Amino acid sequence: STTLAGFDPALAAALRGEESRQEDHAELIASENYASPLVMAVQNSVFTNKYAEGYPGKRYYSGCEHVDVAERLAIERAKALFGCDYANVQPHAGAQANAAVFLALAEPGDTVMGMNLAQGGHLTHGNPSNFSGRHYRIVPYGLDPETGLIDYDEMERIALETRPKLLIGGFSAYSRHKDWARMRAIADKAGAIFWVDMAHVAGLVAAGEYPNPLPHAHVVTSTTHKTLRGPRGGIILAQGQGADFCRKLDSAVFPGIQGGPLMHVIAAKAVAFKEALRPEFKTYQRQVVANARAMAAVLQRRGYKIVSGGTDNHLMLIDLSTKPYTGKDADAALGDAHITANKNSVPNDPRSPFVTSGLRIGTPAVTTRGFGVAECEQLAGWLCDVLDALEAGDGALAVVRDRVRGQVAELCRRHPVYR
Ligand code: PLP
Repeated sequence: STTLAGFDPALAAALRGEESRQEDHAELIASENYASPLVMAVQNSVFTNKYAEGYPGKRYYSGCEHVDVAERLAIERAKALFGCDYANVQPHAGAQANAAVFLALAEPGDTVMGMNLAQGGHLTHGNPSNFSGRHYRIVPYGLDPETGLIDYDEMERIALETRPKLLIGGFSAYSRHKDWARMRAIADKAGAIFWVDMAHVAGLVAAGEYPNPLPHAHVVTSTTHKTLRGPRGGIILAQGQGADFCRKLDSAVFPGIQGGPLMHVIAAKAVAFKEALRPEFKTYQRQVVANARAMAAVLQRRGYKIVSGGTDNHLMLIDLSTKPYTGKDADAALGDAHITANKNSVPNDPRSPFVTSGLRIGTPAVTTRGFGVAECEQLAGWLCDVLDALEAGDGALAVVRDRVRGQVAELCRRHPVYR
């Protein structure tokens, strides 16, 4: 049989299961989104068959005239979207974009300063088990324990003391604006290259809903699949850095860390960037932020603590450190009620990263499927109902879980993703 169900029933069942899960569950994982049918169609195209090592016009293979068009479109649109004069659209993912920046701009053993992973940074910004933490001397900066906000004075003190080669801005779990100008000033004082990994907020930046790091940073990396809502992938951007600097970045991606680029994904990036250049994308991103603010307000009214006291972007971190249950317990209970979130360390978390005392939630995915403020307030209320029942611990959880699961299913039915 040539159908997937006939040829590979086990995989077909998994795929059907995942389709249903994405339709029926409220997706609050802050790094996820639903790519458009056009983006997915282009990814699922003959571009996947083509080898195109090199860059448009300078390939190591022949037959690249059509994939060159796709890559040039992706590059030009990325530059227009973020207001910059350099874009590399080849990194397979965010981690590869970051690996290329390390390779291009630092030597193994160099000091690199990034946001403390336990306080909102990313694995590739210096986790000891990641290449970044293994090959570079990582010096973290973090949050003011009182306010949950980035402590820039402390960042400056550490930078002047340790003189890092790179200063990394960017995060996976920080709900406020970052002061890019202040960070650039600190980098300049310390003699560091200022690199921003805007993976989480790239869509907001493209729409003007979050400060654009490009006027300040020497180099910017991003994923393309979070708020930006494209295919899974990475990009590297820069503005005004000159040809030598950009050539270093290009050769770090290929041949530095990658072989043949994923031309089907690059073509899908071109489609996603075109989508992001439309006015509707601004409306969407504005709604993402409004929805996140509305959810934070409900949570706070119900007595839940949001790290830093609220949100200015698409995500927030719920601090459960005073609760009798863990972030892992909360994640599991919500999952049973068909609300998908993720456990996340909170600043100064006494628990391990596998258990945690926090929960990260975000609004990019639910906003894509059409949830507005009213739906997000409802959802936040149900989330609180589940956590309240978890805390009560008296058998009420099963009843609340079943009720919420039904309510989530009904809300999701009214806002289909692809069906
Ligand atoms: N950078 C940041 C800030 C992220 O949050 C992530 C993903 O979670 C990445 C990089 C890595 O992206 P990818 O999973 O595409 O490798």
